Amino acid sequence: MNVLLLGSGGREHALAWKLAQSPLLTRLYAAPGNPGIAEHAELADIALSDHRAVIDFCLRHSIQFVVIGPEAPLVAGLGDNLRTMGIGVFGPNKAAAQLEGSKGFTKDLCARANIPTAGYVRVESRDGALAALQDFALPVVVKADGLAAGKGVTVAMTREEAEAAIRAIFAVQGGSAVIEEFLEGEEASLFVLTDGTSLLPFGSAQDHKRVGDGDTGPNTGGMGAYSPAPVLTPALERRAIDEIVRPTIEALARMGSPYSGVLYAGLMLTRQGPKLIEYNARFGDPECQVLMLRFEDDLLELMLATAKGELAGRPDPDFSADTALTVVMAAKNYPDTPETGGAIGGIAAAEAKGAKVFHAGTRRDGDTLVASGGRVLNVTARGHSVRVAQAAAYRAVDAIDFPTGFCRRDIGWREIEREGP
Ligand code: ATP
Repeated sequence: MNVLLLGSGGREHALAWKLAQSPLLTRLYAAPGNPGIAEHAELADIALSDHRAVIDFCLRHSIQFVVIGPEAPLVAGLGDNLRTMGIGVFGPNKAAAQLEGSKGFTKDLCARANIPTAGYVRVESRDGALAALQDFALPVVVKADGLAAGKGVTVAMTREEAEAAIRAIFAVQGGSAVIEEFLEGEEASLFVLTDGTSLLPFGSAQDHKRVGDGDTGPNTGGMGAYSPAPVLTPALERRAIDEIVRPTIEALARMGSPYSGVLYAGLMLTRQGPKLIEYNARFGDPECQVLMLRFEDDLLELMLATAKGELAGRPDPDFSADTALTVVMAAKNYPDTPETGGAIGGIAAAEAKGAKVFHAGTRRDGDTLVASGGRVLNVTARGHSVRVAQAAAYRAVDAIDFPTGFCRRDIGWREIEREGP
């Protein structure tokens, strides 16, 4: 069958790499894609916000199935529009994608279904928010409602900081926000595939959001990740599925908007057990890259079964017991104003060391591969422990020639400390 993959990051390169291995695949197309994805797919220059153009492309190229990588098209209802045309889709409809698109929607759903999460209030005006703030202890978390690419959240240590975050949110017309209790613990990500009624666990991961070693500096889209996350023990994973994920899927089905696709639960492992921080309606980036390096089944077949509502009774997907670890190489000055245009070499040398290098923000400038975005490459390797996978990933990083790039040197540190020498 012909498949169209939407997106252009490292996440989509990892998906393209796996989809291309499926015996069910006839031709893979990707839009807009990147030079790494181009090794597996024919690229099409389509704006993902132009749903009509995506549909026309599908009709012209006999595309039967579309895999939607990023959240924005899901939240904008591209899944609904494709399904209306009879085209299969991996990814939820607009109503279910609100789990990611609206923090208020998710918090209200959690409250109704008794799902463990931080206590909260939804606020629709600046003065209402400032008044509601008085009821929270410090630290307190202030979140803009709606998609903000990780930039809409303030963990405020002081009242002044919280008030400034509230003022910033309501300076924008039509602003709305959620104020919530600060949860203490370690964060982990849990992935499940669901067809709206049944679910299959799809692995766990931990990422590193801060730009600098030792988890310092500003937040980014993610500087590295590893999978599985041993801190999410099988018992905790079962609790998270039983107490958080399954009740969410059931609540959405009851509301008449069943969720189909991958559901990514951002969890805080608190002393009382796992609590939900947020949902994402797609794979994480760079978490997807480490999941794909461990995944050992036919991805296209499993995505099709998800879309067709055929997950009931299936065995859990096969993942390698190895750890996979990815190091993000970013352009100098990321996350502020990344320096793009810098030449990149050495990818073949890095892969000769056993790693897989996924492209994120790259483009071709004649014969030269250059950086075109903040996060540029994801150097990903496997090993029988986090320490071994980390060593393999950094051996490959050191083979890459990217003078205007940088990376963290400590991805996986928390788990390596726990693993001991
Ligand atoms: P992203 O796009 O980075 O996933 P987001 O904008 O969807 O983020 P959240 O995931 O809700 O926002 O929050 C971002 C980060 O803020 C979390 O990963 C977590 O570190 C911190 N955070 C959010 N809510 C809480 C909370 N209630 N208690 C403690 N920390 C929190």
